[in-house]
Amino acid sequence: MPDAVSLIQLKRDNTRPLTDAEIAWLFGAYAENVVADEQMAALLMAIYFNGLNAEELSAWTGEMIASGETLDLGHLGRPSVDKHSTGGVGDKVSLVLAPLVASCGAVVPQLSGRGLGHTGGTLDKLESIPGWRANLSNAELASALKQVGVVIAAAGAGLAPADRRLYALRDVTGTVESIPLIASSIMSKKIAEGTNALVLDVKTGSGAFMRDPGKALTLARTMVALGEQHHVRTRALVTRMDTPLGRTAGNALEVEEAVAALAGEGPDDLMEVTYALAEHMLDLAGIHADPREAIASGRALNTYRMMIKTQGGDPDAPLPTAKHVATALEAPATGWVTHLDALAVGIAAWRLGAGRARKEDDVSHTAGVRCLAKPGDHVQQGQPVLELHTDDPARFTPALEALRAPGVLAIGGEPPPTMPLVVDQVGA
Ligand code: URA
Repeated sequence: MPDAVSLIQLKRDNTRPLTDAEIAWLFGAYAENVVADEQMAALLMAIYFNGLNAEELSAWTGEMIASGETLDLGHLGRPSVDKHSTGGVGDKVSLVLAPLVASCGAVVPQLSGRGLGHTGGTLDKLESIPGWRANLSNAELASALKQVGVVIAAAGAGLAPADRRLYALRDVTGTVESIPLIASSIMSKKIAEGTNALVLDVKTGSGAFMRDPGKALTLARTMVALGEQHHVRTRALVTRMDTPLGRTAGNALEVEEAVAALAGEGPDDLMEVTYALAEHMLDLAGIHADPREAIASGRALNTYRMMIKTQGGDPDAPLPTAKHVATALEAPATGWVTHLDALAVGIAAWRLGAGRARKEDDVSHTAGVRCLAKPGDHVQQGQPVLELHTDDPARFTPALEALRAPGVLAIGGEPPPTMPLVVDQVGA
């Protein structure tokens, strides 16, 4: 019979990989509090340093899935496909993509968590729509998927509950940034959701969780392998997140931009990532449809409106707006914007109230940043590049501090070269 101290020592000393039986025992014993939080925390730190090999990771993820319920979407009679993004500044892709892919005939069961830190969460964004509800019962979820083909909702407490406990421990023990722990955390929830196929958007660059492109690619490969091992057809795109996606970062501001995108007026960068992901999702679902046509015909917008109504929201209600708006970040010279740093803009939006520092914090629906100019735009000296939105004017000062860091804005004599946003693809 294994014991927690021996497993910690095996992993700490890298003596040998943990067996499937040891990992199964660990999760069972942790659920019954036979393994204490401090023992699990020590093991997580050992994993942080020594990793998990492919077999250990598959067993670890399997136990996380088995810790809760698994949804079955088979009765819907249509292929299901979901998307997960590792999060970026201004990343409102899900709001456009999920209804877009559903409008082409797939079922999109997008169950998400909330945003933490400088990248906003999809649920926080949608909650700026009057009446819209993120929490659906399993029966409501099934009915929404049947009627509309898409939900974006909070992942219920029953899905991979071991991840909640582990994530909370990782958060307070400096063990979040471990590729096997991140991969198992994300994939256990997505696999438990019951989707047939999954496309991952792994962001890299200054505004991303995985800034380093090499690490982003390793995370992408690790998650794709886990998906395949658990019979979910999985692909990943590694996409650039050096500058905000689209022109807004902040909840209601991003919903407004996503609705414009569904109406055919989306900014080029947002649409480039959205269409790339949509094509892969439709391909994995075996559906031959043109996502551009779904936007042009109004079908995708129609599906979005039905999705919002089904979850209690009013798609026609005006979105809340901030009490205070100020311009910021004046161009130091006339020329082309060659860089606008995603992380600095994300931190500014967060300090204005758009994000939370701790899980239990509330977010402001109105706070955020609008980019008046982005890389590739021409500006005059003194022209403000950003517009800051908040309900609390005391928040302007800390937001401006984030924007004063060196290298946030660069102006050049020529337009920057246009580079594709999708930098890598993983998965067959
Ligand atoms: N998102 C998750 O769900 N889990 C992680 O570990 C990191 C990001």
